Amino acid sequence: MNNSTGRTAVITGASSGIGAATARALAADGYRVALLARRADRIDALAAEIGNGAIALPADVTDRDALVAAADRVQAELGGADVLVNNAGIMLLAPFSSAQRSDYRAMVEVNLLGAITATEVFLDQLKDGGGDLINISSVAGRTARASNGVYAATKWGINGWSESLRQELLPDVRVTLIEPGVVDTELPSHITDEETRKAVQQGYDVAAVKPEEIAEVIAFALARPRHLAINEILLRPASQLG
Ligand code: NDP
Repeated sequence: MNNSTGRTAVITGASSGIGAATARALAADGYRVALLARRADRIDALAAEIGNGAIALPADVTDRDALVAAADRVQAELGGADVLVNNAGIMLLAPFSSAQRSDYRAMVEVNLLGAITATEVFLDQLKDGGGDLINISSVAGRTARASNGVYAATKWGINGWSESLRQELLPDVRVTLIEPGVVDTELPSHITDEETRKAVQQGYDVAAVKPEEIAEVIAFALARPRHLAINEILLRPASQLG
């Protein structure tokens, strides 16, 4: 594929699911990849599997100092980031209630503020030479349903912020919003409300696409020539209603 020679991609949430699949897909296209997540053992193993100069960046996206340290390493060891994939996320669904208040704060801090902070920290690197910002939103960034309100709020937030950034950063940095439907990952396993977790998991067991199928689409968008920007992609299992 074009556009990838000598380019470096930083992927947040690269320790599992869509992030890990995206790291593998971009590495296969010739990118050097930097894998950011909290579970160091997972990203160390993935970096070793991928090889070709891949590095692991153990960091929490809610910790700005850790993101700055990660960006310094990417600059020093890989010559800076050309692509940032803001993928780290949590989906702690439940009926709206005070019992879930720590889940609400965590989702805003990881899904929304984490992406915003990673972007402001890596922005100078992305601007230097023509970059790409991939923001992983969700179908929940375009719709909302009972019991997903705060998760949807973080993803609607990502959508609005992405469109604003797209206008500010063109043509130096292309901004692409990816809005997946149900994808077979560990995402629902972290839901703290047991009843909701079981119900959501049942839905995931019925119809879900593979994280590799989302990764392929991300790689396709990145591979377009620089004069063409794919700004938004909504993709779901063909049988998913909403
Ligand atoms: P996973 O749970 O498999 O992956 C989530 C990733 O986010 C993990 O690598 C996790 O790594 C990382 N992460 C979570 N919290 C933090 C943190 N504080 N700092 C750094 N990394 C963190 O789920 P998915 O692959 O499904 O999710 C990836 C993205 O895709 C999310 O933004 C999600 O909202 C979105 N999405 C997923 C859909 C689905 O159906 N699966 C549908 C639509 C969107 P670690 O725990 O090691 O830090």
